Amino acid sequence: MFLNVRDMELRPLRISREFAIGEIDFFEAVLRQTSPLKVEAVAELRQVLDEIRLHGHYSVDLELHCDRCLEAYTWPISSDFDLLYEPANAEAQPEEAGLKDDEVEIGYYQGAGLELEDVLRERVLLALPMQRVCRKDCPGLCPACGENWNQRDCECPQEKIDLRWTALQDLKLKN
Ligand SMILES: [Zn+2]
Ligand SMILES: [Zn+2]
Repeated sequence: MFLNVRDMELRPLRISREFAIGEIDFFEAVLRQTSPLKVEAVAELRQVLDEIRLHGHYSVDLELHCDRCLEAYTWPISSDFDLLYEPANAEAQPEEAGLKDDEVEIGYYQGAGLELEDVLRERVLLALPMQRVCRKDCPGLCPACGENWNQRDCECPQEKIDLRWTALQDLKLKN
């Protein structure tokens, strides 16, 4: 859905849409959408700098895989957004225009407007957790036999690794 600045010239553009599963390509092969993505938003043009302000709410369910036990789990997102897009050729920088505000994220648009799907894809990717765990205390898999310790304990002799240590290792792997 293309948001054309010309359609916002007279009045704000009201958006209410539901994207079916697969309609927005999230690139990441491991990222599966398991519910439609719903979005309610308003796009308005700020006349002086031709900025587009896009604000609203979206929700979607995704399926992620746990870093520890590798099982799939559902990650529901339900989130507000308030974004400001400037024309890519704008000469005034946000700082100069006095708009530098930590609360507002500023992006750029090319040409006649914005592709809503691109905005939503970026929102979803930014909303993903750094550490993906099915539950905070997921014990993960046995490093020796691969048993999922969520389901049953195994007979392997080694002591279970302290969870805090596992979290540290996860961090190291990410760097
Ligand atoms: Zn898990
Ligand atoms: Zn084991």
